[in-house]
Amino acid sequence: MSPRLSLAAVVGAIVVAVALVPPGRSEPAAKKLAIPEMKFDEVKEIAPGVFFRYSSISATDPKVPFGGSNHTWVLFKDHVVVIDANFPKEAGDVLAAIKKTTKLPIKYVLDTHHHGDHAYGNAVWAKEGAKIIGHTHAARLLMANGAKQWEEQAKDRKDVKESHLHQVDEHFDDKLVLDDGTQRVEFLHLGHSHTRGDAVAYLPKHKILCTGDACVNGAFNFMGHSNSAEWVKCLEKMEKLDVDLVCPGHGPVAGKDLIAKQKRYFVELRAAVQKGIDVKKTVDEIAAGLDMPWYKEWTGKAANDIKDNVKHVFDELTGKIDHERLGAAPRVGRDDLVRR
Ligand SMILES: [Zn+2]
Repeated sequence: MSPRLSLAAVVGAIVVAVALVPPGRSEPAAKKLAIPEMKFDEVKEIAPGVFFRYSSISATDPKVPFGGSNHTWVLFKDHVVVIDANFPKEAGDVLAAIKKTTKLPIKYVLDTHHHGDHAYGNAVWAKEGAKIIGHTHAARLLMANGAKQWEEQAKDRKDVKESHLHQVDEHFDDKLVLDDGTQRVEFLHLGHSHTRGDAVAYLPKHKILCTGDACVNGAFNFMGHSNSAEWVKCLEKMEKLDVDLVCPGHGPVAGKDLIAKQKRYFVELRAAVQKGIDVKKTVDEIAAGLDMPWYKEWTGKAANDIKDNVKHVFDELTGKIDHERLGAAPRVGRDDLVRR
């Protein structure tokens, strides 16, 4: 039995157990969750049994400790589920923070995508006995590109050099549900957004959505592995979910309006680039003409200065990017994904 099947069996057993609970015991309507004010590296219980750790993404400011990605963890009856794996060093910091909130073992960790600040700490969590879960394409990308990118990162980061790349243990295509009757976490793949293999974690009972880098708050939107047209559609799918709090991959927790703000950047950027292409402008000319003061207010960086994103959309709209290749090259056989 492949690990994939074994997880399906476990999840199935949990769902069956839930179905045996007699109906009619309705829970009181949950109060709308407040948006927490948080300092870097602070941990808050944002809903019963749901913790959020807010990390700084600054790798250059010596006054602010780098924290990699944000983290959410959920206390189930007898185990913990963690959203994102971070870099090895930061994974250790988060692990210590989790241990201050619970003695329960960590059973599952979701890599929201294959980037280093979300997946390179996998070995740290695996050592704790956790299974690493990711979307099929995240697993494939981590396997296909991981070794090379890991070597690159190892040049700059001691923790990466001293750790090893642990691959995704269990992968899923559209949806994977963990539910023990007390907590419910739905891992959802909504399409190709920030990467080909993005997954979000939806907590319907608490109306919380953990988005990974498919929606960030004030942080730089790396678009190099993205499909901007599909990304807009993915954000529209997120908007259809019943959500009060958005826990982004980077930046502070926000209300649901964050999703619209994130979408606005891609919609306006795509429209401006298309307009420029129509009148034969160059990437530099289009970037110089971008008029998005609200974006600078939000991120601290003028949209004009993020030329890589303008170039990415320019290349997409002029047919220079093969999104299939971007997501899957070089090809890795599906069967390879279950190999440790
Ligand atoms: Zn990323």
